[in-house]
Amino acid sequence: MNLLEGKTGIIFGVANKRSIAWAIAQSLAAAGARLAFTYQGERLKEGVEGLTCTLPGSLLLPCDVTVDGDITNVFREVDAQFGRLDILVHSVAFAPREDLEGEFVNTSREGFKLAHDISAYSLVALTRGATPLMEKNGGGAVLAMSYYGAEKAVEGYNLMGVAKASLEASVRYLAANMGPRKIRVNAISAGPVNTLAARGIKGFTGMLKHHAERAPLRRNVELEEIGNAALFLLSDMSSAITGEVMFVDCGYNIIGV
Ligand code: NAD
Repeated sequence: MNLLEGKTGIIFGVANKRSIAWAIAQSLAAAGARLAFTYQGERLKEGVEGLTCTLPGSLLLPCDVTVDGDITNVFREVDAQFGRLDILVHSVAFAPREDLEGEFVNTSREGFKLAHDISAYSLVALTRGATPLMEKNGGGAVLAMSYYGAEKAVEGYNLMGVAKASLEASVRYLAANMGPRKIRVNAISAGPVNTLAARGIKGFTGMLKHHAERAPLRRNVELEEIGNAALFLLSDMSSAITGEVMFVDCGYNIIGV
């Protein structure tokens, strides 16, 4: 089914082939979307280019989400090249390693600010940048990536959990704000996946094992399954859904003791 035929999207957060953003990109492209991608810094450019060049008609642009000028340039370029924008994927997060590893009470002021800037505020800034383009064609859909540590205290997740709580609240406030403009804003709360960002979480391998043992489906989520859920939330199949955080975690979150 070409659910996204004629639509365009922009994806923030591809670092390599294991990135959740890349799994989402493959789902969206398979459904017919033309995609723009951003990369953070020259260090990642070549690797990301090696992936995006496999998708004909795609666009690749630099963007550090902490830099307003980068964000402005990205949407200017997307407007110039695509002339429309229907989809925005935010799959970006960062917290300094020392603030993730230590005791939560010792979180630094600078680390707290940076984690929230990159992992939560950027959703607001990117949605604002995308809004005029989305309005041109009568609306759009925005998707962010979250984790269970936004709701519960998860060992080792620390500062990132607090930033994810802010991200999830931002999803709800943006959805309320953008709804009248027919722009939907949702998040996926994914079970753990072994990616570059995940390696910053102390005890991540144990977390994967624990999730697989406890989840009702007795396994971890596959990247392709996150991509498929993203396609649902970014296509008209979910046209009445906004402001939601949807778990894609093999059911882990429903378990009590
Ligand atoms: P990843 O390392 O592949 O992706 C993280 C991305 O954030 C990278 O592309 C990196 O370049 C980008 N980034 C960091 N700082 C940036 C900045 N200043 N400007 C622009 N981009 C910046 O790892 P991932 O696991 O695919 O993470 C994607 C999203 O999914 C994140 O929001 C993460 O918290 C979330 N998530 C991951 C898991 C997991 O277990 N891996 C589970 C749930 C949610």
